[in-house]
Amino acid sequence: MTIPNLSKEIENAATIGISGHIRPDGDCIGSTMGLYLYLRKVYPDKAVRIFLETPAAIFGCIKDLDRIEDASNVTDRFDVFFCVDCGKDRLGEAEKLFDSAARKINIDHHISNTGTGDVNYIVPTASSASELVFDLFDKDKLDEDIAKALYIGIIHDTGVLQYSNTAPKTLNTVAELIKFGFDFPALIEETFYEKTYLQTQIMGRALLESMLLMDGRVAVSQVDKKMMDFYRVDSKDFEGIVNQLRNIKGVEVAIFMYETAFQEYKVSLRSGGVINVSKIAQFFGGGGHVRAAGCNLTGSFHDVVNNITAHIEAQYKELNA
Ligand code: 5GP
Ligand code: MN
Repeated sequence: MTIPNLSKEIENAATIGISGHIRPDGDCIGSTMGLYLYLRKVYPDKAVRIFLETPAAIFGCIKDLDRIEDASNVTDRFDVFFCVDCGKDRLGEAEKLFDSAARKINIDHHISNTGTGDVNYIVPTASSASELVFDLFDKDKLDEDIAKALYIGIIHDTGVLQYSNTAPKTLNTVAELIKFGFDFPALIEETFYEKTYLQTQIMGRALLESMLLMDGRVAVSQVDKKMMDFYRVDSKDFEGIVNQLRNIKGVEVAIFMYETAFQEYKVSLRSGGVINVSKIAQFFGGGGHVRAAGCNLTGSFHDVVNNITAHIEAQYKELNA
């Protein structure tokens, strides 16, 4: 896919908006903030704004994070609007801003996204949206703050350069970024590995109460509303739980869900690569990647588990495995 010409796309734009998906993760925040910092630096005469849900406190190390706005009450019409790390359907409150923009640009790496902009740069093989945003930049115009934001994005979506989405190009990109000399071990520690005591406790509960299904090939766990209230945690505190379930020896698919309202669950899926969890998530109206995907489901915990495992079984049958 040809890389869009960023300077051409925005040369006549006076107002530019940027947004990413609801419940923004490290890549979503890193890619949108990287783009925001770059545009503000390189095009100081343009009005650039960024709209996201409130990021987790750990991302406070990214410059100008406090410039992020809530799109709820904004009605401005932008000359150019960027939708990054998702399709427009997951922009939440910012979707209306994308829809009303004169020119819509969609940058994403989700296999489930078929392109929702006038210009689409969708590369499912890319490690992260941050890696794709880097492609758009004039490398001579980067600075340490821009590099840090993109680095955090790549680190988060590749599990610190471990997951199979890490390609030679990813490492070349990272090589360019760390040339700026920021303290990358600290960034990894503080934004990826470090957990609060509460987060560690809730992970412990979720792991303790997990179940193995389908001869140990599936691990599942949940956190319900009552438990969330008891520990006073929210969705930002569950990062890493589903990966930990997937790490169990013999487990191909991990399912982690938390209750968003009575019998409504946000479901996270991870696979070892045999089962395509994006396909399952897409069936239920969600999406993602082959090895990491998500969706929203209604019903009891057991209904949700049964609905998902039926699809895992069907895929195993197809594979004769
Ligand atoms: P997570 O389980 O960490 O929330 O998400 C895993 C991957 O699936 C991420 O790339 C995320 O963007 C994507 N994803 C999670 N939930 C949804 C959803 O409801 N819809 C779509 N399209 N993608 C999702
Ligand atoms: Mn991403």
